[in-house]
Amino acid sequence: MEALITLLPGDGIGPEVTECTQKVLDAVATMFGHTFNCDTQRIGGAAIDATGNPLPAATIASCEAADAVFLGAVGGPKWSDPNAKVRPEQGLLGLRSVLGVFANLRPVKVYSELVGASPLRPEILEGVDLVFVRELTGGIYFGEKTRDATSASDLCTYTVDEIERIVRVAARLAAERNGRLCSIDKANVLETSRLWRNVTDRLMPSEFPDIELETLLVDAAAMHLLSRPADFDVLVTENMFGDILTDEASMLAGSLGMLPSASLGTSTVGLYEPIHGSAPDIAGKGVANPCASIASVALLLRHSLGLHAEALAVEQAIGQAIAAGARTADIAAAGEAYISTTEMTAEILRGLN
Ligand code: NAD
Repeated sequence: MEALITLLPGDGIGPEVTECTQKVLDAVATMFGHTFNCDTQRIGGAAIDATGNPLPAATIASCEAADAVFLGAVGGPKWSDPNAKVRPEQGLLGLRSVLGVFANLRPVKVYSELVGASPLRPEILEGVDLVFVRELTGGIYFGEKTRDATSASDLCTYTVDEIERIVRVAARLAAERNGRLCSIDKANVLETSRLWRNVTDRLMPSEFPDIELETLLVDAAAMHLLSRPADFDVLVTENMFGDILTDEASMLAGSLGMLPSASLGTSTVGLYEPIHGSAPDIAGKGVANPCASIASVALLLRHSLGLHAEALAVEQAIGQAIAAGARTADIAAAGEAYISTTEMTAEILRGLN
């Protein structure tokens, strides 16, 4: 197949991990006989420096024409003045809106060789392989806000349509995986959560009768994620709960450098990015873990291009490199030797020849 992919390296370690992404795309293209035309554009701080705008028109045009978009990371101390009129993060929020992505998928897979990198006990982590589906464009983050000298408020709103579309994304994913969905809300306190639960309880048995549905309150979910993470398959929740729980879940894998994400909308065009930020503390040192970005390529191949065998090949290549002992600094055990970003990528590429 032929596909157009926009690459947005961004800031900090973003360009370093995007370079690895491009190498993996090239290897997949050669191995499976595809043509991936990659167009590199600016976003975030790099775009502010060059154009004054964190999301320049040329970047928007490229993303709108693309079959999929890969983003490294945006932000850094150079652009973090709280009084600044333009900020790198505006580029990312603008991009999500341009692409109309409302479902954020965050798979968390624990490699048995890396259980030591997590603060949790190995026996709890054995077999963890779950996907969070977080609603990305609604809820309290986007509601009306007020503030005066003595009080402040943030309005949380969800519509039936918003809940139905995200629950359907999660249920379809569960159908492709192990057939289990956990919906997380706070229905004992919040009206938006009561609506969420009503919609989920109505929609699931009628549209997805074969999916096993579990419902958890968000406080209990926070606990179950640490006490029985291997029991979960797909978890779906609203924007703020998802924001918090996905960071908690990232610790199951031990390092931010291992975890990919996909943001999807109604079309097949998606936004793929590692969950980590621009890591200014290690930028330019060549030590960033490229696994999160390379695993994001697998999601891109699967969800935007429909290339399932290719996606699996990338995921298996990461697993093989880890099993063979390849470690970047963030996932190496104390005293264990570690390799650079480029060397780790080369180890993964060995599985794609
Ligand atoms: P961060 O994710 O950049 O870094 C947190 C810690 O994890 C750091 O110690 C870093 O060195 C380490 N780390 C992150 N990615 C790694 C990798 N691939 N390999 C090895 N170690 C890795 O979070 P932060 O320090 O809170 O934020 C830094 C900047 O990134 C901020 O400007 C923030 O706004 C931005 N940010 C951007 C995004 C995004 O672009 N989507 C997401 C989060 C944070």
